[in-house]
Amino acid sequence: MSERIFIGVAWPYANGPLHLGHITGAYLPADIFARYHRLKGNEVLMVSGSDQHGAPITIRAGQESTTPQEIASKYHQQFINCWEKLGISFDLFTTTGTPNHAQVTHDIFLTLLNKGYIYKDKMLQAHCPRCQRFLPDRYLEGTCPYCGFAKARGDECDECGKPLNPSELKEPHCYLCSSPVHFELSEHFFLRLTSFQDKLTTWIKEQTHWRHNVLGTTWKFLDEGLRDRAITRDLNWGITVPQSGFERKRIYVWFEAVIGYLSATKEWAKLHGDDLAWQPFWQGETKSFYFVGKDNIFFHTLVWPAMLMGYGGLNLPYDVPANEFLTIEGRRLSTSRNWAIWLPDYLERYEPDPLRYALAANMPETGDSDFSWREFLRRNNNELVATYGNLAHRVLTFACRNFNGAAPSPGELDEQSQRLLHKAEATLSTVDKLLYHCSFKEAVREAMSLAQEANRYLDEQAPWKTIKEERQNSAKSIYTVLSVLSTLKTVFYPFLPFSSEKLHRLLGFEGSVKEGGWTLQSLSPGQELRQPEPLFIKLDESIVAQETSQLGSVSNR
Ligand SMILES: [Zn+2]
Ligand SMILES: [Zn+2]
Repeated sequence: MSERIFIGVAWPYANGPLHLGHITGAYLPADIFARYHRLKGNEVLMVSGSDQHGAPITIRAGQESTTPQEIASKYHQQFINCWEKLGISFDLFTTTGTPNHAQVTHDIFLTLLNKGYIYKDKMLQAHCPRCQRFLPDRYLEGTCPYCGFAKARGDECDECGKPLNPSELKEPHCYLCSSPVHFELSEHFFLRLTSFQDKLTTWIKEQTHWRHNVLGTTWKFLDEGLRDRAITRDLNWGITVPQSGFERKRIYVWFEAVIGYLSATKEWAKLHGDDLAWQPFWQGETKSFYFVGKDNIFFHTLVWPAMLMGYGGLNLPYDVPANEFLTIEGRRLSTSRNWAIWLPDYLERYEPDPLRYALAANMPETGDSDFSWREFLRRNNNELVATYGNLAHRVLTFACRNFNGAAPSPGELDEQSQRLLHKAEATLSTVDKLLYHCSFKEAVREAMSLAQEANRYLDEQAPWKTIKEERQNSAKSIYTVLSVLSTLKTVFYPFLPFSSEKLHRLLGFEGSVKEGGWTLQSLSPGQELRQPEPLFIKLDESIVAQETSQLGSVSNR
């Protein structure tokens, strides 16, 4: 029976380019999951968009003498180019800047206000007298109370990694002009999270299928006791507050960005000519998955569910399979120090599938994991090229030369061939189960082990030897491996969509892998194969030194 799957992916902040931390944290696992469910014939909707509000964008615009809209539009376009090149298959990638999003946000704000879940209060905010503006936490600089680092920010210390409150900083000053700041009282709206403590606790207890790290982080917040949070800011860029007296304030980004999941679904429905098409995904029988990085867990397992509970009548998350962090060459990723691998740079130099493979094979699902260029090279050259790519190339080339470029008729299969075909069927079902439960790392390993198994089979069968004396025997082994390749293009499709489509065509199939479904799509004897070409390109050893030397060099960006 087919299922309905909603996939919400974290909204990237339109203030800078994407890096590998973003990709492995949310976008790649979400895309693998979406492709898998589409291949299974399920109804999938995957949405996200660029988060284009908030103070950092206004400050960036000031520094570059442009407008916040220009900054947001520039990165929005860059994100879309990256999704296309990396094969991240959103059904809709919009922005928080649409009138539709503002309208949906106002509706939720006003409903929660009317129900008493939002209230007015005063709070202290850092103000820079020289810049004449309230400063967001990130634009407050001072000395870290934990490690003494002089350039810690109001939200976090980049040296020791401790999260901070603005008031904890010693000698707080403006990050932009270095003037000392003072704190002023300002009136704001607050979300009454405290009133959801019990309801959320009951609900979280039922989520036994969630990842341990996600449950752990969530329970930590619940055990400490939830606190009400300010949901407006002193700012002139963002979604207006639909209340008089608040004309110079805006709704805080974290409150409205999560609403984007709902507004994007409504926008998608309108674009498809059926205004009500959003309803089955939010009110009908649907499993809603939210793919976000570790730092976003709180907003997706507690804040957004609280908002949904308060509003009423909309589906709560079914799962939030958040990943842990990715380190780069053994060190914590830092964008300010350029200790990062930027996606646009990668995509200029290499193919998308090897990155998707390397990140999936080492996905930080249960703990942090590391990306190194040496490991990337090894995975590309030893696994994609030597194991999978070479298997396809050997067999397709051989069939072209010896069987007139068509799948030979296998005749009767021996035990060894049957065993390999059973293994192919078993891999389809194992990878199916693993992907269903968001175990991406293990799933891709299973897929690769089928390719390894097929290589061993091919070496033992040695069709290049049997072709002269026992042509039928050779035909049988070639046909068997062609069937395994057909399985591989299916089980690898969620991870390696580009090479899977290519292999699909090389095997002589028409259309797309997607149409074949999650099955062993057999070749008919006599099926014409296409002229073989390599699935992957071997990379030179020298890229390791070349790429690692770029890390941390600030001149680069
Ligand atoms: Zn200042
Ligand atoms: Zn510190």
